[in-house]
Amino acid sequence: MNSTPFWGPDFDELAAEDPEIASIVLSELDRLRSGIQLIASENFTSPAVLAALGSTLSNKYAEGYPGKRYYGGCAEVDRAEIIGIDRAKALFGAEHANLQPHSGASANIAAYGAFVKPGETVMAMSLPHGGHLTHGSKVNFSGKWFNIVSYGVREDTELIDYDNVRELAREHRPKMIITGATAYPRLIDFAAFREIADEVGAILMVDAAHFIGLVAGKAIPSPVPFADVVTFTTHKVLRGPRGGMILCREEHAAAIDKAVFPMMQGGPLMHAVAAKAVALKEAATPEYQAYASQVIVNAQALAAGLADEGMRPVSGGTDTHLALIDLQGIGLTGDVAEMRCDAARITLNKNSIPYDPQPPSKGSGIRVGTPAVTTQGMTEGDMATIASLISRAVRDEDGTQAAAIADDVSSLVTRHPAYPRG
Ligand SMILES: *Cc1c(COP(=O)(O)O)cnc(C)c1O
Repeated sequence: MNSTPFWGPDFDELAAEDPEIASIVLSELDRLRSGIQLIASENFTSPAVLAALGSTLSNKYAEGYPGKRYYGGCAEVDRAEIIGIDRAKALFGAEHANLQPHSGASANIAAYGAFVKPGETVMAMSLPHGGHLTHGSKVNFSGKWFNIVSYGVREDTELIDYDNVRELAREHRPKMIITGATAYPRLIDFAAFREIADEVGAILMVDAAHFIGLVAGKAIPSPVPFADVVTFTTHKVLRGPRGGMILCREEHAAAIDKAVFPMMQGGPLMHAVAAKAVALKEAATPEYQAYASQVIVNAQALAAGLADEGMRPVSGGTDTHLALIDLQGIGLTGDVAEMRCDAARITLNKNSIPYDPQPPSKGSGIRVGTPAVTTQGMTEGDMATIASLISRAVRDEDGTQAAAIADDVSSLVTRHPAYPRG
């Protein structure tokens, strides 16, 4: 390290040059600090990750891969990407890693690009049962360009119906099978999916966007030994910068790298690649492992607390960082619950539940997740408090209680501040 001073985020400069945007940045920080953040796909990145993101690495054009770039001047960013790749391979026990996807959806586009051609058959979890847009939605590239066969959960158990997955695979002979979801609270049996994929000669892609942070923290089993390719986001439980990543077996390394660049993307976001490397270093610590376990303990406590308040956790509970809550028992739809919680500074999202009688714009449920509140240092006792605050908020029909609930929210988050001052 030489003596060059860091030229990084200087808020005073932003405030002087662009007060309008500066005030939005401050208001957003205030929103994060003054409420309870229960969006299951959100987290609070560390100051170190933010510093890498706000660095001059943002300026560099680096199309290609370390040592094989289409631009000069890449020696420094090469080092960042190599360190990141090595950390990803070590952390996840993977043979190959690609840190360049701009997002989870971009990682998925690349995986499709590497393994399937337009018109070929792909099997994935249906959206109303917890799958992602990129798993075959009609409004997404996946649903427009591929022949999608959807599987779901059983109506009685609300768990993935592996027998049905096998039957569908035998019938439709998909080229690729995708597992992973955005709103499935339970562990996925990767060995079962591997067996089914092998039986029909399909590629097995695991979209681990939501739960990869729990895998990194050794709190749940890893899909890496079972999958041909694992795609994920880096900004959910994993707590890195907004972005995507792909792990795969060595035999698929060239196909994946070519699918990310030049097939689907141009220049990588090197500031984000460096920030991903920082997050991977953080995720390899014992502190992060303790965090990942606590995220699950907290989600289980929150689901149990909500159940005590008459709100049913879909599938009876959770093994992960999120719970899907059915509000039919208290006669509410998800959109109304989301709005009432918002008024009390509790941020969560409405969600469809399996076999939902409501349209997606309303939804019969809400989804709650504990990555952010756990980063703030909250534990099980705080989850019981949050469950009762949610219960009061969703039942506040005329909005007269919102201010009082927000006061209680404020005293809770004051004890566990997000981005503590000084
Ligand atoms: C969040 C998510 C994605 C997409 O990530 P973006 O970064 O929003 O593009 C893809 N797949 C699953 C399962 C997700 O949960």
